[in-house]
Amino acid sequence: MIYIHIPFCVKKCNYCAFNSKAGGAAEKNFYVEALIKEINLRGDNSAVQTIYFGGGTPTTLNLNQLEKIICVVRENFSVESSAEITIEANPGTVDENYLRGLKFLGFNRLSLGVQSFDDALLKILGRIHDSRTAIETVALAKKFFDNVSVDLIYGLPNQTLDKLRRDLNRIKNLDVQHVSIYGLEIEEGTKFFELARAGKLPLPAENICADMYDLITETLPTFGYRRYEISNFAKKNFESRHNLGYWTGKKYFGFGAGAHSFDGKVRTSNIRDVATYIKKIRAGENVSVIEEKVTRQAAMEEFCFLGLRKVDGISAQDFYKKFGVKIFDVFGEVINKNRRLGLLEVDDDKIFLTERGLALGNVVFADFLL
Ligand code: SF4
Repeated sequence: MIYIHIPFCVKKCNYCAFNSKAGGAAEKNFYVEALIKEINLRGDNSAVQTIYFGGGTPTTLNLNQLEKIICVVRENFSVESSAEITIEANPGTVDENYLRGLKFLGFNRLSLGVQSFDDALLKILGRIHDSRTAIETVALAKKFFDNVSVDLIYGLPNQTLDKLRRDLNRIKNLDVQHVSIYGLEIEEGTKFFELARAGKLPLPAENICADMYDLITETLPTFGYRRYEISNFAKKNFESRHNLGYWTGKKYFGFGAGAHSFDGKVRTSNIRDVATYIKKIRAGENVSVIEEKVTRQAAMEEFCFLGLRKVDGISAQDFYKKFGVKIFDVFGEVINKNRRLGLLEVDDDKIFLTERGLALGNVVFADFLL
């Protein structure tokens, strides 16, 4: 698995704490050069089943820049012919020619950051697109890609259940293959954080957010989307293979500023600041720091709390194969406690969250930290 971080956006959104910023043409060129150097240095010819260009807004790079990156990935890894190759894009940054170009470069999955189809809400979020652009972009994307995902956010300032219902109905009409939908989180360093602190962010009440969650989880399945992870829904066979890789503990390479990597034993992360990343790569200096050496115990914990994010849960047999001990010998107490609370269920080999457990995932995951 390969993740490539493109930290540039047209402008910073009001709620965004991702490693992203508005970037100029020269900086983008220098960044692409640095990225290419990093991939050349670290590539090991290993087999790759998924590649994910995330950001930021990767589609703020031109096709020529993306082509250079893709080529260097192919030169340094064995990218399987059936690999899932995703690029995140935002409405307002792609047109027909650009989408045709992406397809030509080998991208076969497009993830569109729509967030809402409501003009007033998009304005509050500080997005560059309006509802019409979003709808047109999704429709256009479907012309070129048969695997299109849309990201939405709920719990937005001034959002009502009716507004959310309209967004969900829009998804039904657009008939995309995949939907990711997250609750808004107010993060430090964002405009929303400042507004919330000043009491000027009209967020929906907690009980309304809970009703929104219920509306999403009840409505999307009626439109043919299976919930396969806490926040992700897909039509049959359109689950994100890349994200499933993270939840099943696969190894991954992360390239670019702030990108994380995992080699099966050690987690590392690259320097987050874009200018420093470029400078260090140019000087031939190391850009990554060790975040965590994953001990056997930490690996067992991760197996559980990452795997339980999937609606299908985890397999006791897989746990035994991987660690040589029975999951109930290590986590028996935690599993039984959460079963009693109605948050976990055990069915033969499978251990998975109940509906209530899915809503309170973080409470269960915390329990798996021994
Ligand atoms: S487009 Fe996405 S990554 Fe860029 S600023 Fe907005 S939320 Fe952040």
